[in-house]
Amino acid sequence: MLIDAHCHLSFKDYLPEEIPVILERAKAQGVERFINIGAGDGFEGNLRAIKLASQDASIYATVGIHPHDAHMVTPEMVSQIEKLLEHKKVVALGEIGLDFHYRHSPENVQEEIFDQFLELAKKRNKPVMIHDRSAEDKTFQHLKKSGIQGNRIMIHCFTGSESLAKTYLDYGCTLSFTGIITFKKSEELRQVVGFTPLNQLLVETDSPYLTPEPFRGKRNEPAHVRLVAEAVARIKGISFEEVANQTSRHAADFFGFSL
Ligand SMILES: [Zn+2]
Ligand SMILES: [Zn+2]
Repeated sequence: MLIDAHCHLSFKDYLPEEIPVILERAKAQGVERFINIGAGDGFEGNLRAIKLASQDASIYATVGIHPHDAHMVTPEMVSQIEKLLEHKKVVALGEIGLDFHYRHSPENVQEEIFDQFLELAKKRNKPVMIHDRSAEDKTFQHLKKSGIQGNRIMIHCFTGSESLAKTYLDYGCTLSFTGIITFKKSEELRQVVGFTPLNQLLVETDSPYLTPEPFRGKRNEPAHVRLVAEAVARIKGISFEEVANQTSRHAADFFGFSL
């Protein structure tokens, strides 16, 4: 079995009536659980993510505000998110973090909001799903300062350097990989996959984005997490079954549900 550890099924890229078909196609590839991200679409995205998770046993949700949207966060929003964290299908706070590549929100605002969410995750004892892009080791510094244990931290769509990967792994964090590992240019990232232990590794699609080869350029969907897992197996020189089994078990442990 495979688990897509990070997808955006409630984004408007998918029509509601397409979802059952998309889930069927995923299940035909062995993908049986889906972590549907509430962040990335303002506050309302969280409500849509929870709604979808409530309708299907195989879907779980996360709640949070994407660093792109940090500028719109109010104290009321933070307390609403705290309430949503109590929902039984909500398995993590995220995606939260820092994105200094696009800078849709000013850096200092992103950092301030990130600290507030880390505080909240600690208070509610929830794992965190981190978006980290082009912030060097700043994201790590905030995580460390928060006191959250490494085994409660997942770095989604890891694309950083080998040395950043080692910093996260030494701290006990989990690195999650997308279809980017199948792209021709991703040689350094494949090195990172090579040394990331399977008990600190997850696979995800980040659907509708980052479609793996050979479908690159088309809209992504959770069925394609199989291609990511197959790439991990190739890079590590181990069987696909081993990657599928270990990443599924790790996802269940990390997010706290049973398989
Ligand atoms: Zn992200
Ligand atoms: Zn995402």
